[in-house]
This record gives sequence, structure tokens and C-alpha cells, in this order.
Amino acid sequence: MALENSKFLFERSLARIPGGVNSPVRAFGAVGGTPVFFREGRGAKVIDVDGREYIDYVLSWGPLILGHADAQVVDAVQRTAARGLSFGAPTELELEMAELLTASLPSLEQVRLVSSGTEAVMSALRLARGFTGRDVIVKFEGCYHGHSDFLLVKAGSGALTFGNPTSAGVPADIVAKTVVLEYNNPAHLEELFARHGSTIAAVVLEPVAGNMNFVKPTLEFHQVLRRLCTQHGAVLVFDEVMTGYRVAAEGAQGLFGITPDLTTLGKVIGGGLPVGAFGGRRDIMAKLAPLGPVYQAGTLSGNPVAVSAGLATLKRVLAPGFFDRLGATSAKLVAGLEKEARDAGIAFSTASLGGMFGFFFRSAAPRTFAEAMDSDREAFKRFFHAMLDRGVYLAPSAFEAGFVSSAHGEAELAATLSAARAAFAEIR
Ligand code: PLP
Repeated sequence: MALENSKFLFERSLARIPGGVNSPVRAFGAVGGTPVFFREGRGAKVIDVDGREYIDYVLSWGPLILGHADAQVVDAVQRTAARGLSFGAPTELELEMAELLTASLPSLEQVRLVSSGTEAVMSALRLARGFTGRDVIVKFEGCYHGHSDFLLVKAGSGALTFGNPTSAGVPADIVAKTVVLEYNNPAHLEELFARHGSTIAAVVLEPVAGNMNFVKPTLEFHQVLRRLCTQHGAVLVFDEVMTGYRVAAEGAQGLFGITPDLTTLGKVIGGGLPVGAFGGRRDIMAKLAPLGPVYQAGTLSGNPVAVSAGLATLKRVLAPGFFDRLGATSAKLVAGLEKEARDAGIAFSTASLGGMFGFFFRSAAPRTFAEAMDSDREAFKRFFHAMLDRGVYLAPSAFEAGFVSSAHGEAELAATLSAARAAFAEIR
């Protein structure tokens, strides 16, 4: 029977792991049913513990831009691991990573490596507060920046999927310094800065939102943001944990021509192993220990095995033409999905950028959190299962972006669209 072994493992997991999962978005809470347990991944495909194969559009939530078990990445990891797993002292690999990141993202004059996106954003914002001597952090509804206390306010991703965008366990006085505004609304920004500009330490945002499904910014929004931060001395932090080396080689910042003061990175830069990073202006980074008074540290920061996976990935991603091909794959996928939905008479909209995409059961692509919420989630749920039954693994939530890899080719696209045709017909 399908998913028999996944069901068995999930039952066992429920006894020992809260909710049976080690990160909430892995649970099928929003779509119902048993989370699929995987045993193997190859290229664009994953194989579950019952031996069923799926085309994967989750890709470990973004990192696997070359697909699963890429031979060069695996080889780099194995060769590095054979020479020692960790030293807790500087290595040349970390330097190579820092040089690659600063060369490819011009806004990064200096960078520090950490082990997750959460750590990267938390550290960047502590640094922004230390640099400015101010306390207030501005974020946007529906954006997710990891699970540090002061950012779990009206957050996206799993926090949104499971109905607790503002987490319990976070003291009110910790979030009192976090102001939440509407995404893509420059008027709200103007108003806030006019009244409280001198208290704002930083504005943090996903430059393309991927944690309330996939919502593109307007250029005006970015430009107003940059102007106001400069005028009022606030630090502009682009959280490119998801978009960095995912939407373009130069990140969302390069695509939109905006220079943030600090940038946070994760996912792709670890190639599937835990690497995060934050970096930016040299005068701001100089406030970090051991140079300055802002403390930040990590036992496994810059871990050589993880960094070697990231380096092997980034070298391929930065090769000329990589994003042309990846962008064409995503564009073809979403155009195909839209056509199939239209043929089935279903209200549906899509968007894509580089290797990232989204689709909504509503007629127009949303620009704000409220619009993203206003989609047919029941239709999504049924579509998700109809696709899973046909061997296509999508994120199990209507509030997550999708990802393609360089291993997704014509055959995978054709199989996905043929599954979508049948799935739309089934749910119509
Ligand atoms: N920032 C963004 C934009 C993210 O999408 C995520 C994770 O999805 C994070 C931060 C947190 O990263 P991590 O899960 O590695 O802690």
C-alpha cells in the first residue's frame, strides 16, 4: 500500500518527536495525511521509504539548487571530511567562501559565516542595533526570518501555516521593539519613518517574499526603503537566505539594483549542509567581536565540510548562463501550470524568478500579505494530494515558495505538467 512505511515511521516518530518532525513545515498539518519519509535523492527526484519516486520541487526548502546528491558536491564533502570534520580554528576553505561571497555580491565588503539562516538574521540585527545604538526593528507581515524571539511576530512560513505567526513563549517586551508593516506598501514606510525615524535601528525584509508563498516586490517599494533608511540612518538588511544565489547570481539586490547595508545568506551557500552568513558594510562589520563590542560566535561556524559543499555548489551556480537556464525552467513550469489550470477553468495565478516560483488558487498574483491570504486553500490542499499521488512533491503548505534545480529538465517538466492536467481535472 502507498506510504505504508512512511505511516509506520511517522507513528513511531510521534511517540518520540513532538509532532513527529524536527521542523514544523515538514508536517502535513496544513494539507492532512502522512508526511513522506525519504530514503534517497538523485537529481530532480526523491525516493520514499516505500520505493515511490517523486519529482521534487521542495529541494530541502531551497538549498539543493543543483538537485540531490550532485556528484561534485558529494565528492567535495567526502574529500574534506576525510581530512577532519571540524577544527574550531580558521581554515582556508572559510576564506575561500568569504572571498567568493564578497566577489559575487558587491554590497558585501566583509562577511562572517554561521550555521543557519536564523543565526545569520539574529546576528545581523544585533549588529545593526549595536552599530546604531537604537532598538526598533521594522519587519513586514508574512516575511519569515528564522525563529529568533523578536522576529516571530506576524511571521510567514511554518509559523503562518500552523496558525501561530506570533509565537507563544516570546515575552511582550521583547517584541515591543519590533514594528510590523505591510509588504509592498511604501506609504506605511513613509509614515513610520516620519514619526519614529530616529529610533529605527534596522529594516529587515525578504527582498522577494518566499514565506507567504511567493510575492514579488515593486521597484518603488525597494527604492523608498533604501531612501528612507539612508535619510534616517537606519540599517537596511536584505534577508537573502532564500533568494541569495537562488533568484540570480547577484541576488535579489543585484536584480533590483538596490545596495543593502547588510545581507543575510543561508540555504544555497551550504549546498545542503548547514551554512549561513551575514555581511555588508565594513564600518558596520567592524563593530563585531573581536574588533568591536557586538558579540557573536559559533563552535561550528564555517565548518569545513559544510563550507566545501557550499563552495562546490556556488562555483557551478556562478558559471555564466546558469541562471538563464534555471529561470527558463521555472518560467516554463509556471506557464504550463497556468495553461493547465485555465483549460480546467480554475482560477489560478503564478510567478517565478530565477529558480524560485509560486502559484496561487486566485485569479491575480498577490502583492501583499492580505492578498496572499485571499486564495483558495482548500483547492491547494486537494491539488497538493492529487500531485503527490501522481509523483510530484510540492511544499505541503499554500504559504511556501517552490524551487527548481539545474537537474530539472524537459522530461521532469513534461511529467509534472501531465500530472497537473490530471490533478486539475480531478479537483475541478
Ligand atoms: N530567512 C529566510 C528568508 C528564510 O526563508 C529562512 C528559512 O526558511 C530563514 C531566514 C531561517 O533559516 P534557517 O531555517 O536556516 O534557520
